[in-house]
Amino acid sequence: MHTVTLIPGDGIGPEVTAAAVEVIAAAGIKINWEIADMGITALEKYGTPLPDEAIASVKKNKFALKGPVTTPVGKGFRSVNVGLRQALNLYANLRPVKSFPGIPSPFSSVDLVVVRENTEDLYAGVEHNIGNVAAEAVKIITKEASNRIARFAFQYALEHRRKKVTAVHKANILKLSDGLFLNTCQAAARDYPDIEFSDRIIDALCMDLVLAPHKYDVLVLPNLYGDIVSDLCAGLVGGLGLVPGANIGTEGAVFEAVHGSAPDIAGKGIANPTALMLCAAMLLDQLGETTAAEKIRRGIEQVIEEKIALTRDLGGSSSTREFTEAICRAIV
Ligand code: NAD
Repeated sequence: MHTVTLIPGDGIGPEVTAAAVEVIAAAGIKINWEIADMGITALEKYGTPLPDEAIASVKKNKFALKGPVTTPVGKGFRSVNVGLRQALNLYANLRPVKSFPGIPSPFSSVDLVVVRENTEDLYAGVEHNIGNVAAEAVKIITKEASNRIARFAFQYALEHRRKKVTAVHKANILKLSDGLFLNTCQAAARDYPDIEFSDRIIDALCMDLVLAPHKYDVLVLPNLYGDIVSDLCAGLVGGLGLVPGANIGTEGAVFEAVHGSAPDIAGKGIANPTALMLCAAMLLDQLGETTAAEKIRRGIEQVIEEKIALTRDLGGSSSTREFTEAICRAIV
């Protein structure tokens, strides 16, 4: 039996992670879940939003399924997600964005992969006030981290039969920092002659994505642009409830959705658990349980395409529970 850390998280986290755990069981895979608290829940229990016990659990088990956690805006503790990614050196954030048949969205057959650098850029957290008149944040881009993420993107493309990698930057303005990111991606590209390489300035990419997303295949971006573009891409296929993600490092991986803790709908039983269920499928792939992972993906596609149950964000009226039960029935 596999042992995996389960982090229910805040807001809708416990609702969507419970749904993901159910579909894994319905697919016939037994997992020994080691529960770890993070976020507001952990702050109340342990006095810190990122307890050492939680980090130790992920380190030991190598894999975690994680619900979103709340980060106070403009005040309070530092992002738990950023802290976790840095503590475990989860340097790559992989977000496959795929259209679902049956979901009304501006485009059909979008099939993009966002590869976001996860450890530096403005998220390094080097920020300070200058008196009470200004504030300064430092954008850190290193050759080492840029090279690592570029090679991750090319390797992913190679292994998943993708054709093209596009590096995204603002090197026309940020000539040194984004310039280094771009130069490093260009250098890595030379080692992958079978993968087409191009680059795009971030603002032009955003316009292009909402006009012609089919032009792109694998996108590789520094941390901040990757964060923003992931949500934009989620919008292309019908919303945040549908896009999974994985934070991957040399020692293991943490699977979590692109979406946050959605405090506006927390506790109402109406959250869409699809993204977390797709995270569960990505986890099963990593555990070598690829048949069960495929079953889950097919079950989700069937329930959505045939509109057997749809949550409100997808235009339906089903609850998280009704949707989850429909997927479990479709799997077995
Ligand atoms: P959010 O993603 O939580 O919500 C944005 C909108 O999308 C809301 O209207 C919400 O109801 C909707 N939504 C999100 N997920 C949904 C789902 N599964 N089903 C149906 N609707 C869904 O973004 P936010 O409101 O900007 O952030 C809320 C909190 O989450 C913040 O504290 C933020 O820091 C945190 N956050 C955490 C993570 C993470 O833990 N990985 C990621 C992003 C944001």
